[in-house]
This record gives sequence, structure tokens and C-alpha cells, in this order.
Amino acid sequence: MKTDLKGLSARETEEWAVRHGLEPYRGRQIRHWLFTKLAGSSDEMGNIPKAIRALVRENAIINPLEEVKTLESEDGTRKHLFKLQDGHLIESVLIPERDHLTLCISSQAGCAMGCRFCLTGQQGLKRDLSASEIIEQVILVKRSLEDPEHLRNIVLMGMGEPLANYDAVMKALGNLIADDGMNFSHRKVTLSTCGLVPEMKRMGRDITINLAVSLNAADDETRSSLMPINWKYPLTTLIRACREFPLPNRRMITFEYILINNVNDRNQDALKLSRLLSGMRAKINLIPLNPSPNYDMTPPPMNRILHFQDFLVKHHFTAIIRKSKGRDILAACGQLTGAFAGNPEG
Ligand code: SAH
Ligand code: SF4
Repeated sequence: MKTDLKGLSARETEEWAVRHGLEPYRGRQIRHWLFTKLAGSSDEMGNIPKAIRALVRENAIINPLEEVKTLESEDGTRKHLFKLQDGHLIESVLIPERDHLTLCISSQAGCAMGCRFCLTGQQGLKRDLSASEIIEQVILVKRSLEDPEHLRNIVLMGMGEPLANYDAVMKALGNLIADDGMNFSHRKVTLSTCGLVPEMKRMGRDITINLAVSLNAADDETRSSLMPINWKYPLTTLIRACREFPLPNRRMITFEYILINNVNDRNQDALKLSRLLSGMRAKINLIPLNPSPNYDMTPPPMNRILHFQDFLVKHHFTAIIRKSKGRDILAACGQLTGAFAGNPEG
């Protein structure tokens, strides 16, 4: 069976090289070609002898994803559609910010968590992605850029619940932030979770990156009605895990709060939210719901959104209204389904 090289750590790549009769440093060279030089095939590995390139070609997978197509939004957001080797489709979204690019990547095809407002959730889980399928999204998008160094931020906020695919996600993140991997700053990598408490604790011990929690409600009744995971890990459990989460100096946990008309957008909700998070190093991202014909929920009117933000700011929280980009190409938060609008066959 062929080895999925991009899913291996530095040490494992050296071991792979040795198992194939090579010196360990060949493993390090191959890694450099894959993650730093973004080589698309072993033929590009210039300082590696031809015989070894052939060995890599025969024994390793280095293209776990096939680029199907990209779609560009009016606001510059770009959605990449990728096909896995077994045919499932996933999406990554490249978002232009003021002075850099952010890439939002997927951790699963579909998602098992069933959040009511989320189109990825409505299709259920197709399967977990492997570590190489996760990191390959970054590699392919980076390779498509005129200035690859512009890509500085990575968020695991695409399709899937990253902490439900823990081992593969941690391996991919390891290669993403390793000096001899893709060398992203751990300050610029964010994992977003719906709140899988045991895995949040594990993550706090295993890796230092930013944590975002999709909160979306400040009382159990509302949250359970929107996010079934709340039955298993209700707010007291979740918030305790957030308060105990190890944060490096001056870092904050981001709480994502989708604002839904007459569901979680009233004064009393803002009050409950401020009490729930009081004293925490928390940043609140308010996201007006992206509506869908699949449900009857809608975003609140703008004045209510501003009012909600105002309340939180007056209570000394950092609260930002995050209009999601790329709505015209269905690239916005919660709209990723692996099928392009109007052309589900890709
Ligand atoms: N599963 C993880 C990460 C991916 S979900 C999580 O839930 O955090 C991607 C983000 O999109 C989450 O923050 C979610 O709250 C948001 N989202 C989902 N559906 C949305 C919608 N209809 N409108 C706005 N945001 C949505
Ligand atoms: Fe899954 Fe996140 Fe969507 Fe919930 S919001 S269904 S956890 S992808």
C-alpha cells in the first residue's frame, strides 16, 4: 500500500525513508519539497536522485486531493472545490483581509453534529478526512497564489467538526506549524469547535493554537434546540472547560455567536451572554445568520444586531460583527456543502 507522506511527522518520514533503504536525511529532503517548496510531484524534487524520485512515485501518495474548480466572489473570496480519492467533495475558502489572506479549511466531508442552522450539518457525516487531505488544502491553495507568503492565517472552520476527527486534525496541525513543515505561526492558526469538551481538554495539552467555540446561545434551552451537542455537554460544562483552557499570555478564546431573529438576539440574551462569559479573556464574533431555504430562521434587522453588539461593548467585551463574505458563491459560514450552487455535479 502507498504511504500518505503528507500525513507523517518529521520522524515518521525519516523512518519511512529508512524502511525503503534510504538515509534518514532523504526523508527530511522530501519533507522540504512537500511542505516548503510545495512540490506537486516527485519529478520536481531537484536535488533528489532519479531512482529515489521513482521510489517516491511508486510508494507514496503525494496528491491526495484533486482540484475540481474554484469560484470567485464579487468581494474577492475564493472557494476551492476538491475531490477526495473516493469521490467525496470538500471545500476550502480563501478570504482576503486588509493585508493578508485567511484560508478556511475542512476537517471532514459533511458533519455529524446536526446544528440546525448549518448546511454542512444537514448533509450528515460522509467521512473523516485524513491528515494529508487536511493539509493538502493549504498546499494546493498556497500553490495557486501569486504571492504565497500572503497566506498567513488558517482557520479550521470549513466543513466538519475538527475535534470529532481528533488524531488526523492534530497531525495536520503539527505539520502546519512545524518549522520544517509549513511553518505557520501558531498564533495564526485557529480551530473552531461546537464544544466537544473532552477533546478541548486534550487539545489544550497537545498543542498551542487559537481556540474558537461556536456558542450561539447563552442558555441551555436555546442552545440545545440549535445545537444537539449541547445535550451532551451543556453550557456549565462547556464554559468550565473554556475557563480552564490553557491560554498563552494575552491570548483570548473566540466565541462565535450567530445572531438569529427572535431566537437569541434579545436584550436578555445579551445580558445572559455577558454573565456567562464574565471575567473571561473572551472575544465575541457576532455573525448574522446566513439564511437558507432549508429552514425558516432569518437574521435579525441591522439595528438589533448593532444594539446587541453595543450592549456587549458597554459590558467591556470585545465584540465584532463579522459579516461573512462570499455569500454569492455560497462560500459563507455554514453554507459549505461540497456542491457548487446550480451545478452539484461539479
Ligand atoms: N464545526 C466547527 C467548525 C466549522 S462550523 C464549529 O461548529 O465550530 C463553521 C462555522 O460556521 C461555525 O462557527 C458555525 O457557527 C458557523 N455557521 C454555521 N451555519 C451558519 C449559518 N447559517 N450562518 C452563519 N454562520 C454559520
Ligand atoms: Fe458541524 Fe460546525 Fe456545522 Fe455544527 S456548525 S453542523 S458542528 S460544521
